[in-house]
Amino acid sequence: MSVPESVDPRRLRITNEAGTEGTLIGFRCRECGVSVFGPATFCQACTSFELEAADLGRVGTLFSYTIVRIPPAGWPGAVPYVLGQVELPDGPQVLAEVIDCEHSALAIGMPVELAIEAVGAPAASGGGSGGADKLVYKWRPAGA
Ligand SMILES: [Zn+2]
Repeated sequence: MSVPESVDPRRLRITNEAGTEGTLIGFRCRECGVSVFGPATFCQACTSFELEAADLGRVGTLFSYTIVRIPPAGWPGAVPYVLGQVELPDGPQVLAEVIDCEHSALAIGMPVELAIEAVGAPAASGGGSGGADKLVYKWRPAGA
């Protein structure tokens, strides 16, 4: 068995062999300093093309959240689940599931950290066993 890969190598870089740790990545504008999560070809703040790859880390604070009771088709996890909008220290916001947290314990501004999980790919519609597991990023309360 090979180690699962990042579900999106443009947004999540896995940093250990076991695939349990990773960091969010994106770009930083050399002109104005604004950071972008994920792929970008120009700065959304000043339109400069002078972007450099940036490591955006693995922590943030909960900016907003919603409790999802009607999941999108093919959602592989439990329902309801918490979808959190998390602000990174460099400014970009990242939308992902929040795990390991009672709904009553959710609080705007709470510190959260990245949780890397392997998720099985859905079986192909024509039969077959589906693809290899992918590593996805979620949030959990920091220090949980
Ligand atoms: Zn810029």
